[in-house]
Amino acid sequence: MSFTIAIDGPAAAGKGTLSKAVAAHFGFAHLDTGLLYRAVGAKTLLGVEPIEAALALTAEDLNAQGLRTQDVAQAASRVAVIAEVRAALVDFQRAFAQRAGGAVLDGRDIGTVICPDAAVKLFVTASAQVRAERRFLELLAKGDPCTREDVLADVKARDARDMERVEAPLKPADDAVLIDTSQMSIEDAALRAIAVVEARKP
Ligand code: C5P
Repeated sequence: MSFTIAIDGPAAAGKGTLSKAVAAHFGFAHLDTGLLYRAVGAKTLLGVEPIEAALALTAEDLNAQGLRTQDVAQAASRVAVIAEVRAALVDFQRAFAQRAGGAVLDGRDIGTVICPDAAVKLFVTASAQVRAERRFLELLAKGDPCTREDVLADVKARDARDMERVEAPLKPADDAVLIDTSQMSIEDAALRAIAVVEARKP
């Protein structure tokens, strides 16, 4: 039996950590759908045409090195506005969501477009300042030479592109539970998410 959890929200809101924690707690499979767009974006930085890159994407491409850089994140949000790129990635995501034993998918349009019938929908957010600070500390720990100002500008640019695009814009589904992590640790947010899922499980 499938049981799908859709977790959406803006860049660096803590979706990744929270999704992994929920998936580990319930023993569900987890797909970070941002990686699909990052993998396509990374190929465009090498000169491949975006729609071609999306149509040719393989599971191995998701394990490529360097998908977590800011340049790739920006490239990902640029290819993500293209309808044909999004369409090329739909079947893979929907098949993943139907896995027996349960699946957690995190992204921007999971509860609204990819899995509108998901059993649980969460929308995880936080102020741009809090998100940028978290991402800055993460990048710093990885030795990435970035500044706070650059990271905040990156977060704001991606927010704008993700929310204002015509195709599958970032927004909470009408039936999503909102979790604002501005004043909450990601660990506490994960506990809250687990409690929401627990209450909806058959
Ligand atoms: O989640 P992550 O920051 O890795 O996503 C990178 C970019 O991919 C986002 O800024 C967004 O433009 C795009 N994306 C999307 N739809 C998704 C997941 C990611 O448009 N479901």
